[in-house]
Amino acid sequence: MIYSLNAEEMAQLYERISKEFETYGTVDIQGDITFSRIESYDELRIGRSDKPPKEFLIGRNENVLVFTEPNKKAVFGVMSCDLKGFYIMDKQIYGKDPFYTARRDNTVFINYVCTEPCETGFCSSFGGPLLNDYQIQVINYENDKYLIYADDAYKSFFEGFKQASKEEISKVEKLMHNFNMKQKKHEVEGIENRIKWNSKLWDEYAKICIQCGACNYSCPTCYCFDLNDVGEERFREWDSCILAGFTKTSAGNPRESLASRLRQRFYHKFVYYKKSKGEYLCTGCNRCTDDCPVDIEIKEVIDHDYNNE
Ligand code: SF4
Ligand code: SF4
Repeated sequence: MIYSLNAEEMAQLYERISKEFETYGTVDIQGDITFSRIESYDELRIGRSDKPPKEFLIGRNENVLVFTEPNKKAVFGVMSCDLKGFYIMDKQIYGKDPFYTARRDNTVFINYVCTEPCETGFCSSFGGPLLNDYQIQVINYENDKYLIYADDAYKSFFEGFKQASKEEISKVEKLMHNFNMKQKKHEVEGIENRIKWNSKLWDEYAKICIQCGACNYSCPTCYCFDLNDVGEERFREWDSCILAGFTKTSAGNPRESLASRLRQRFYHKFVYYKKSKGEYLCTGCNRCTDDCPVDIEIKEVIDHDYNNE
């Protein structure tokens, strides 16, 4: 269903949801947008968070020998690129990993759909913000006007709120169309056939990469992890395909060189995942570039002319 709310009703919606769910949202901490527990709707600040919200589903470091039923959480302020990341990861993880699956089933993400392109993101190269597919989506299309797409599973929260008119819906659809027109496009489609195994890019990047792993940790679609036994506990923690120990076994490391590990990261995103799951393992949030201390740019990997190196 599609509803039309004003700012006061948005606060009422928050109150209703907070009676059933623990509430989290994006807040401003000394100029940084970050996810945190919130106790009131006023605390919410909308904007792309510094770190992606994947921690709500994949623990940064957790004992996987102990399963605890997760609390029901409502996460306000998830941006379109990050929400899309969950739907991409679902294809790989949902139903297979009991921790991820239980958290996914107990978390409602309240997506604040982007209406203006952000400074560095390039999500429209991957289709841009999506409507209709997700749990609860909020579009603040004019000062005090919010259009809300909500799955029927959440309709009890919307009792008494008015449904959106055809005019309001078409206004929002036009806004979303303009969003995709405004943002510079990078030709992602077909990159799985253009990208080259022996490209000079991998060696060039290997000369400057400091192997910090920030590109993986800040990515809403990177889900690789490592397992370590500590006494009688087994911890799973986020891993990075750029680090030297990644995929190392007693038989050796199939990717000894840094260049091969950098190539692996882009091949996983643009070739292997596309061929196995039908889409790219990237939403165009650009955090990997924004957080890279040596400015290795994912857009360059997409735009590069591999035939004329
Ligand atoms: S732009 Fe970078 S950080 Fe963002 S989804 Fe794509 S690979 Fe991940
Ligand atoms: S963020 Fe940059 S420097 Fe750090 S591992 Fe990734 S590519 Fe290398």
